[in-house]
Amino acid sequence: MVKDVCPDTRWSWAEINTVALRKNTRLFKQSLSRGVQLMASVKADAYGHGAVPCAKVMLSSGADQLAVATVQEGIELREAGIDAPILILSEPPMECVQTLVNYDLMPTVYTFEFALAYGECASALGTVGRYHVAIDTGMNRIGLKPADLLEFRHSVDFHRGLECAGTFTHFATADTPDDWDFQLQARRFGDSIAALEQAGYDTGLVHCNNTPATLFHPELSYDMCRVGLGLYGLHPSHASMSSVALEAVMSVRGRVTRVAMPSVGEGVSYGFTYRVTRQNIQVATVPIGYADGLSRLLSNQMEVLVHGERCRQVGRICMDQFMFAKDAARASRYNQRPIEYGDVVTVLGVDGDQEITADDIAALRKTISYEVVVDFGMRLERVYL
Ligand SMILES: *Cc1c(COP(=O)(O)O)cnc(C)c1O
Repeated sequence: MVKDVCPDTRWSWAEINTVALRKNTRLFKQSLSRGVQLMASVKADAYGHGAVPCAKVMLSSGADQLAVATVQEGIELREAGIDAPILILSEPPMECVQTLVNYDLMPTVYTFEFALAYGECASALGTVGRYHVAIDTGMNRIGLKPADLLEFRHSVDFHRGLECAGTFTHFATADTPDDWDFQLQARRFGDSIAALEQAGYDTGLVHCNNTPATLFHPELSYDMCRVGLGLYGLHPSHASMSSVALEAVMSVRGRVTRVAMPSVGEGVSYGFTYRVTRQNIQVATVPIGYADGLSRLLSNQMEVLVHGERCRQVGRICMDQFMFAKDAARASRYNQRPIEYGDVVTVLGVDGDQEITADDIAALRKTISYEVVVDFGMRLERVYL
């Protein structure tokens, strides 16, 4: 049965399985050729799993570097005593160059103005500002166009306060294996790196692979792979499920705070979108709501696991709580236990031989597992196992 690790202050929590996190990290690291570094993406509070504890587990099980989205995320890691290289995955505002130098955070760079401000600041502080250049090979999000790359390097390389520590791009369609658009991006990236080298520029570490590209295109590993989703045990697409054995890191559970048996015809939750249609329907309450990342779009759509059995969620999901139903008469015919106050309810994860995955929830919400786990990072207390 499910181990009850409920916090004292609220009957809901997100379990973070550090054994699984370690296993997934080792798996990715071991899949890389010797000398290829693993950069663990811990942006968005490690995809809702908690950046500092996850980064520590990853760094002690094969990750060489960390990637974050924002300067604040980088500062949080440094203040926790983490000294691994940290890359900010886009170019931050020019106003923060001194913060970057002080906290030893590497920015992604693609404008001359930013590079100059960063280099000046680093020089003034008696150090060298290390940065990575982003190349836009087709996603049209960030980076320099390949045609502008040499001119950019020419215009910044004179600066003694700057050092190029890496050159990278990001794929838009890596989760579709053998995609033509992917091949085009990969080719543009390869050509750009070759042009830089031919012109005598030091590219630093060359990297392009995210989770799906790391799994499907090991030939594009270059010097480093940037892996996020896979480390948390989630698959970027159906295609990878058979090829690599990942273990989901996050589970979300709560305990029943109340059980009622409303009369036939009574409604449940805001708007009475569900009404009790038979006798002996138990309606149980769990303190997890949309402010915890359980999207209101899942109302009357999702299921939960209790005692290893599936139960239908009923009525609108509220900000802080939701309800589910169990047919107590049917349960007793099948020798199942009725729902009781304090029972453990699984929203995401395994209970007995049943499982609800982040992909299951994502499908109901018409989104991707990334958003599902990030959302569960909103407010739930995390318990590290
Ligand atoms: C988020 C991100 C990654 C990691 O992507 P996953 O699909 O989670 O592996 C890698 N590179 C960049 C630029 C990113 O923004």
